[in-house]
Amino acid sequence: MSQFTPHHPALLRPYSKPANPDVIRIVRGKDALVFDDQGNQYIDGMGALWYCNIGHGRPEIGDAVAKQMSTLANYHCFEPFTSEPAEQLAERIKALAPVDNARVFLTSSGSEAVDSAMKLARISHVQAGRPERTLIVSRSRGYHGVTYGGLSAQGLPLNQAGFGPLLTDIINVPADDDEAMATVFVEHGEQIAAVITEPVQGAGGVYPPTDGYLATLRRLCDKHGAFLIFDEVICGFGRLGRWFGADYFGVRPDLMTFAKGVSSGYIPMGGVVVGAKVLAGLEADPGFLLRHGHTYSGHAAASVGAMVNIDIIDNEEMIARGAAMGARLGAGLRSLADDNIASHARGVGAVWAIGLNDGVDSIDIRNKLYARGVISRALPGTMTFCPPFVTTDAQVDHIIDALADSLK
Ligand code: PLP
Repeated sequence: MSQFTPHHPALLRPYSKPANPDVIRIVRGKDALVFDDQGNQYIDGMGALWYCNIGHGRPEIGDAVAKQMSTLANYHCFEPFTSEPAEQLAERIKALAPVDNARVFLTSSGSEAVDSAMKLARISHVQAGRPERTLIVSRSRGYHGVTYGGLSAQGLPLNQAGFGPLLTDIINVPADDDEAMATVFVEHGEQIAAVITEPVQGAGGVYPPTDGYLATLRRLCDKHGAFLIFDEVICGFGRLGRWFGADYFGVRPDLMTFAKGVSSGYIPMGGVVVGAKVLAGLEADPGFLLRHGHTYSGHAAASVGAMVNIDIIDNEEMIARGAAMGARLGAGLRSLADDNIASHARGVGAVWAIGLNDGVDSIDIRNKLYARGVISRALPGTMTFCPPFVTTDAQVDHIIDALADSLK
């Protein structure tokens, strides 16, 4: 039976074919399960869209958000105002993040976070007397969102096609090629504002970095005076088995973007952890006005929601649970490759992908998985998995069995 039903045409859906009428309408969720309006149940093997770390249907977040909303849903944080929940969330994230003497800039999404990080890097150099540092260096396969900064920086050309002209002053280098990166620094070292990379490339297909690659980036940035931005929109808040990808790889960035797992998607939230070197530029002139920020930067109700999510991750040892779940999932995926029904598995912690054998159509596998009650994401030659940390052993085993069935 197909899981698809006709959609309501008023909604122009994101990352969808505008002319395709077939949809799946998810209406309810509990822990790692979601349910559609036809009565089908699925294991949410993607944590929705790489975001639902704590699992679905936790009432505590809604309760806390409702209380904040009935007191004051939001009051903006443009000068001279601020918001107590935003201040508390910033304190909380500052305490967790492996970034020295940081401050936290808040947004409502990952794309806003990435564009903010790029702008903060550039303006900090300007304020520090280095206006020539405008270049942003990024990696192929990287995904950094859809607004023009992140769109221009990302390394997935299909996403960029037709939206040009994109930002200038972006250099995209082959993903794991130390030499290509070193060459860019030799040729443009004095003009580089920042290097941006995901610790593990996620939406591009789940590619962990090669050994030592991120440390090499850190060394190059230090040597040449550029900032290092980790885009932790997927990796942050426990996905790799530590609070942040920076912790997992033992490399400290100057700027760190986050979204998704900060609120597990219960309410839109994102932001940038801004480190001391970047702040030095921003804070140098007491008269400098940072003319950047969104209406909802520091949204009070959203900040409360994110804080309850972080409490749940912390108090319920969610990160260790996610790591154990991910280890079982990774082992299962590797066993499919060992049986030669797939090519290989890639991943770290609780984010994984399986490379398909030549000639296998990922959309076909995705649909077969839907019919077997499992949600995965299809990329060319790849199926990705990013389940909630609360996914049970039996559910992980069901994902693997359904995948084996679909691939055979
Ligand atoms: N950066 C990374 C690493 C992401 O994975 C994403 C989304 O998948 C984004 C940025 C963009 O986030 P959003 O879709 O919330 O704008």
